Amino acid sequence: MALLEVKNLKMYYKTLRGEVRAVDDVSFRLEPGRALGLAGESGCGKSSMATTLLRLLPANGRIAGGSIFFDGVDILALSEEEFRKNIRWKKISIIFQGAMNALNPVLRIGDQIAEAIVNTGETTKEEAVARTKELLAMVGIDPGRYHDYPHEFSGGMKQRVVIAMALACHPTLVIADEPTTALDVMVQAQVLSAVENLRKKFGLAMILISHDLSVIAQTCDEIAVMYAGKLVEYGEAVEIYKEPRHPYTRGLLKAFPDITAERSPIKTIPGYAPNLLEPPAGCRFHPRCPLAVETCRRLEPVLKPVTPGSNRVVACHRTEEAGALEWEAVQ
Ligand code: SF4
Repeated sequence: MALLEVKNLKMYYKTLRGEVRAVDDVSFRLEPGRALGLAGESGCGKSSMATTLLRLLPANGRIAGGSIFFDGVDILALSEEEFRKNIRWKKISIIFQGAMNALNPVLRIGDQIAEAIVNTGETTKEEAVARTKELLAMVGIDPGRYHDYPHEFSGGMKQRVVIAMALACHPTLVIADEPTTALDVMVQAQVLSAVENLRKKFGLAMILISHDLSVIAQTCDEIAVMYAGKLVEYGEAVEIYKEPRHPYTRGLLKAFPDITAERSPIKTIPGYAPNLLEPPAGCRFHPRCPLAVETCRRLEPVLKPVTPGSNRVVACHRTEEAGALEWEAVQ
């Protein structure tokens, strides 16, 4: 049975100019212990998906349709009280992007983690302190620094504290929302490796949200690519990284320099993601796609297996041609 099953999920934000369809009819599933990378540009709906899974929507957000089953439980049918007591942090936790904002600057780091454990109502303060020290050691921080404040840590160490906090209540699914975006490349590699080791050690399932497909390919078993609130490609990470079949996925992969190749201009996707108040008709990617034809402007493509019966699915009318698309360098 899937640990997480998301079906036809829709999450909209109410604004003065209408509703922004941030997550629009998205479906996927995640097996226990597997890691799924959610990729796409800023504003494609990745972080909205994370907040929806944790039911942490802002006041103007609403779930407009679909279902989320976690471990067989319809979590959208639970009351807020039931969800907070049984699911959030205990079963599904999150590593927020930007450790600077995730930690309270006026509280000692150890107390911040211990408080999350005590709040479950299942441990004493002493047990929570002991568990916190164990967690700090696990993420590579000297437990003796329990009483230090966030400003006494480097960016990478703060991010490790946030990871320890996410693991505090023994979750089975961790959502990591751009966990390394604010870090330099060396620290990013160390933090990702710490996350990966802990995930394997505890058999955790993970959803890693990132705009960087190479980070996802290193860490995840599967990749889901989102564009303008829609899932456009989904499959095994190795296959998608080797042979992306959606023009957008190919563009995302080319948007990062290859440090082993000759120096050359970066190939990026021209234009901008659409305004989700009024997304384009047909394929939402058509205004930026070099392969767009009349059908793309009229008909919305649906996810279809690349080969019959395959789990690898792509939403594009021209999958065959897309497999050979070479994006031009934008100067
Ligand atoms: Fe491009 Fe058409 Fe495929 Fe959309 S459906 S990605 S516009 S080729």
